[in-house]
Amino acid sequence: MLVDKIWANSADSHTLEPHQLWKDRLPAELAERAPWTVRDEGRETVYVDGQVMRRDPISFSDAIRPPGAEDVTIRLKDLDEQGVWGEVVFPSRGFWIHNMTDPVLARECARVWNEWCAADFASASPRLIPTAILSVLDTGDAVAGLEYAASLGFQTVYMPATPPPDRPYNSEVWEPLWAAAEEAGMPLCFHIGTGMMAQIVAHGPGGAVINYCETLYPGMRTVTHLVASGALDRHPGLKVFVAEAGAAWVPALADRMEEGYRQHDMFVRPKLSRSPREIIHSQVYASFQHDPTALQAVAAMGYANVMWGSDYPHLEGTFPETQKVLHELFDAADPAVRERVTYGAFAELFSVPDRV
Ligand code: MN
Repeated sequence: MLVDKIWANSADSHTLEPHQLWKDRLPAELAERAPWTVRDEGRETVYVDGQVMRRDPISFSDAIRPPGAEDVTIRLKDLDEQGVWGEVVFPSRGFWIHNMTDPVLARECARVWNEWCAADFASASPRLIPTAILSVLDTGDAVAGLEYAASLGFQTVYMPATPPPDRPYNSEVWEPLWAAAEEAGMPLCFHIGTGMMAQIVAHGPGGAVINYCETLYPGMRTVTHLVASGALDRHPGLKVFVAEAGAAWVPALADRMEEGYRQHDMFVRPKLSRSPREIIHSQVYASFQHDPTALQAVAAMGYANVMWGSDYPHLEGTFPETQKVLHELFDAADPAVRERVTYGAFAELFSVPDRV
């Protein structure tokens, strides 16, 4: 039976960088410490700067790498077939840059990734909106990286949901970056599951789901820190986006922050010129893949900054069942909510040509 195809922009997708990317483009001393994977004994092990980051079954690693992950021509065919028009594209191997502790290594790996991405990936189609990687170990490097990314044509930058332990997102050390991002009109995209967080928190009963849910909390912390510290209040033109964490928690977090801000007034510093809810509803965006409650955040909770994301090509996402998921989500939805979640909120952060 033929059904109408639902088209949507995706706020959350990933490209798979060439394995050799850093080996080919960095001096040997840095190249040997760049992200690298080795397959043995049925496992794929990720090394960064001599440390083991992950050791996954090869079956898992292969499942998140359909051919379009690495081949942009196949990717664009997949997008057409799945009904995805524009997409925000995060790294894959590039995420490991945010587990590095050497600022020079992180800065140079980020620079190489951004140059590769602009020249060899984004150039394939204006439908692809990749997020440049910033080094987050040094604010000067982050600001210079953002300005360089803008000069390469990037619309936005990606940052880890968990920052380095000595650089939390409520810290004043970030102020020049918030100012530079606002000035450049570049939204900051925080992708969950990235940065200096433990990859595995729980073993034993429920471990898989517990560990999956653990990736959500740093996204909540990021929003809490940016709002409570006054960073977003001081920079009302700065927009931030938490990718892949779902959306209905955002208005609930706003409730919690309102209560704390009001009821603990005697402790609260700094005072804000707008309420936490007002700041969140005007400057914080969130994306989800499957969650039916995400539409209710828009329809029933007054939180309009909700974007759908396919998370292509990952297991947590909708590929290759995107049309099925989009129909389940939107067939019975208010058309205005569907428009907002598939296009409207996206257009407030990112620019993509109209579908032809
Ligand atoms: Mn994702």
